Amino acid sequence: MEKRNQAENKKKTTTFATLKTMFQIACKEKPILFPLFGLSLIVEVTNTLLPVILPKYIIEFLMAIVQGTPYEEVRNKLLWTVGLLIASDFVCKVLFNVINAVTRAYMELFNRRLEQNISAHAMAMDFEHTEDPAALDQLNKAKEGISWYSGGVVNILNDFYTIVLNICILICGSLLVIKGCPWLIVIQSVGLVFIGYFNFKNNEIQVKSFQRLSGLNRRFGYYFYQVANFIFGKDIRLYNSADMFSARGQEENKKMYGVWKQQAMDTMKNNQYVNIINTFRDSISYFYLGVLALMKRITVGDFTMYVGAASAFYWAMYRIVTGVQEVTKHCSYMAEYLLFMEYPAVMPKGSEPVKEQAHVIEFKDVSFKYPRGEEYVLRHVNLILQPGEHLSVVGLNGAGKTTFIKLLCRLYDVTDGEILLDGRNIKEYSEEAYRKIFAPVFQDFQLFAFSLKENVALDKTDTADSETIEKALELSGVYEDAVKLEQGIDTIIYKSFDEKGTDLSGGQRQKVAISRALYKDAPVVILDEPTAALDPVAEYEIYKKFNELVGGKTAIYISHRLSSCKFCDKIAVFADDHIKEYGTHSELVEKTDGIYAEMFAAQAQYYV
Ligand code: ADP
Repeated sequence: MEKRNQAENKKKTTTFATLKTMFQIACKEKPILFPLFGLSLIVEVTNTLLPVILPKYIIEFLMAIVQGTPYEEVRNKLLWTVGLLIASDFVCKVLFNVINAVTRAYMELFNRRLEQNISAHAMAMDFEHTEDPAALDQLNKAKEGISWYSGGVVNILNDFYTIVLNICILICGSLLVIKGCPWLIVIQSVGLVFIGYFNFKNNEIQVKSFQRLSGLNRRFGYYFYQVANFIFGKDIRLYNSADMFSARGQEENKKMYGVWKQQAMDTMKNNQYVNIINTFRDSISYFYLGVLALMKRITVGDFTMYVGAASAFYWAMYRIVTGVQEVTKHCSYMAEYLLFMEYPAVMPKGSEPVKEQAHVIEFKDVSFKYPRGEEYVLRHVNLILQPGEHLSVVGLNGAGKTTFIKLLCRLYDVTDGEILLDGRNIKEYSEEAYRKIFAPVFQDFQLFAFSLKENVALDKTDTADSETIEKALELSGVYEDAVKLEQGIDTIIYKSFDEKGTDLSGGQRQKVAISRALYKDAPVVILDEPTAALDPVAEYEIYKKFNELVGGKTAIYISHRLSSCKFCDKIAVFADDHIKEYGTHSELVEKTDGIYAEMFAAQAQYYV
C-alpha cells in the first residue's frame, strides 16, 4: 500500500521529470534532432503566416484594378505576391516532409532503446518482483506507455515543439490583429477557455481508461497469446484446454469493451460541447468583423487577413492548450516507464566483495514466508555447511527444500534470522559477487533459444574455448548426443528462430543444464533433483561421476532418490517447516522411527 502511495505521489510530479528524461535521451542518442526542430520551426511559422498576410495584398491589388488603376501598374506586384505565396507553400511543404521523415526514423530508434532499458531492468530487478502482480502490471504499463499510448520519445518532443511553435504563431497573430480588431483576441480566448476545459476532461478520461486497461490487457494477452506458445502447446492440446483459455480471454475482452465503451461515450459528450462552443465563437467573430467592415473601419483585404489571423490565433492558442494537455497526458503514460525503471527494490543492496577463500555457509535461526504469503514455509532453520562439504537435502514435496536453496542464492531475503557467508550476513555482499559463487541447477531450469554452446557458457561465450565446453558436456553425459547434431555444439536449441534448430529430450536438456553449472566452475554447486528426467543408466552415470562432477567443491544435492544420499557427507531432512533430522546416512538409517529411515526402507525394496 505504501509502495503504491509513493508511486502515486511521484506520478503527480512526473511531467517535468519525464520531459527532462526524453530530452536527455534525444540529446544522447541524436542531438541533430534539435537543429532540425529549429529549422522546422522557422518553416512552419512562415508557412502559417504568409497565407494570412499575402491574400490581403492580392485582394487589394485586384480591387485596385477593379476600381480603375491600370493593370500594368499593379501587374508585377500582383504576380510577385501570388508567386511568393505559391512558392513559399511548396518549399515549406518539401522541407517539412524531409524533417518529418528524419524524425520519424529516429522515433523507432528511441523506442527500441526504451524497450532495451525495460528488458534490462526487468532482468536485473529483485527476483520476487517476477511474481508480484503489481510489479508485473507496472512492467506492462511501462511497455504500453512507451509505445502508442504516448507515441514514444519523438511524439513527446513533438508535443513540446508544437507548444513552442504555436507560441511563436500566437505572438505574430496577436501583433496582426491587436490594432485593427482587439476584441477578436478576447472572443477567441473566451471560446478557448471552455474548449480547453472539455479537452482536459477528455484527457482525464483517457488516462483513467489506460490505467484500467493495462491490467486487463496483460491477462487478455496471457489467455490469447500463450495458447500459441509451444511450452504450453502439449498440455493445451491434450487436456483440451483451448476453450478454457478462450472463455477466460472473452471475459477479459468483455471487461475491456466495457472500458472502451464508457470512454467513447464520455468523450463523445464532451466533444459535442466543444462543437457548440466553436459554432458560437465563429459566429461572434464573423459578426464583429462584419460590423467593422460595414463601418468602414477595415478594408475588404483587412477583413480577409483578420479572418485568417483570427483563425491562426485561435488555432495557435488551441494547440498551446491542447499541446500542454497532450504533453501532460503523454508524459503520464511515459511516466509508467520511469516508475518501472525506479520500481522500489525490496532487497537491500550490499557492496562487500566476496573474498576468494573456502566458504563457510551458515543458516542462523532462519524463518521465511513468501512475499504476500500468510504462512511460514520455513521456521528456525539452523545449519552450517563447511567448505567442500556435500549436503543432501531430502523431504516430501512442499517441505521447503527448493525454498531453502532460493534463500541461499538470495533470490529472496529471509523473514527472520540470517544467512552468513564466512561469518558475514549475505545482505552485506554485492549481489553480483555473491551470486557468482553458486552454480545451481533448478528443477525448473530453462534452456534458451541460443546455440548449445551458448546455453552452456552464457555470458562467457565470447571468451569460452570449445574444449572446456565439450568437457562440461562430456561430464554430464550429453556430449556424444551433441556431436551427432548437424551443427554440433553450434546447433540452436528449439526451432523458434532457426529451422535447423533442435528440440532435446527432457534428459538431454537436464544434462545440458548440469553442464552449464559445471562450466560456471563456481565454488558451490547446487543440484535440485538433477536426475529427475534421466533414465536409470544416465542417473547411475551421474552418481558414479558425482565426485568428479563436483570435485572438492561445496555441494547441495536435493533428491528423492535416497540411494544418492550415500554420496553426501551430511543429510538434512526437511519436514514440518524445519530441518527435522540431520546427520550422516548411517546415523539416520539407524533411527528406526526416523523419517529418513522410513523413506529409505520404502525405497530400498526397489533396489534390492
Ligand atoms: P519442495 O522443494 O520441498 O517441494 P518448495 O520449497 O518448493 O518445496 O515449497 C515449499 C512451500 O512453499 C510449498 O507449500 C509451496 O506451495 C510454497 N511456495 C513455493 N514457492 C512459492 C512462491 N513463489 N510463492 C508462495 N508460495 C510458494
